[in-house]
Amino acid sequence: MLCPCGSTVLFNACCQLFITQKNYPTTPEQLMRSRFSAYAIKDARYIFDTYGATQRLSQSVSDIQSWADECLWLALVIHESSSTTVEFSAYYVVDNTVCELREKSNFALEEGRWRYIDGNISKHNEIAKIKRNDICPCNNYPTAWSAKKGKKFKHCCAK
Ligand SMILES: [Zn+2]
Ligand SMILES: [Zn+2]
Repeated sequence: MLCPCGSTVLFNACCQLFITQKNYPTTPEQLMRSRFSAYAIKDARYIFDTYGATQRLSQSVSDIQSWADECLWLALVIHESSSTTVEFSAYYVVDNTVCELREKSNFALEEGRWRYIDGNISKHNEIAKIKRNDICPCNNYPTAWSAKKGKKFKHCCAK
């Protein structure tokens, strides 16, 4: 399968290497992309582990798991990255509603590893309601990882 992060590279040659700790992200953008991919495959442990040490104190794997499970992660768009920040939009479906979360996230190196610290959310909108017979919303996002052109939602990402 293609990597959920939208790189157009296979998952096992992209974020899976980070999620399985065969390799470690060397930039905030790589970490951000791999955290999105972890949401997409619902690997809450990786998301938890890649928070900063202080942030982990107020997070729980089970809370992350329920949020990841509830959502269908459609696509990631990176708007801008710097040496410590990444601004992105994540598109997902929850309760048959397509949503966009746009955030500028802050990252820091802790003991040689990039960690997610926090972020400023500039947009958190419902974009559209979706029915099972509608064309899958992933068709609207060129970086969608599971896109099957022109398929109905029920035959595409809803499965
Ligand atoms: Zn990736
Ligand atoms: Zn789809």
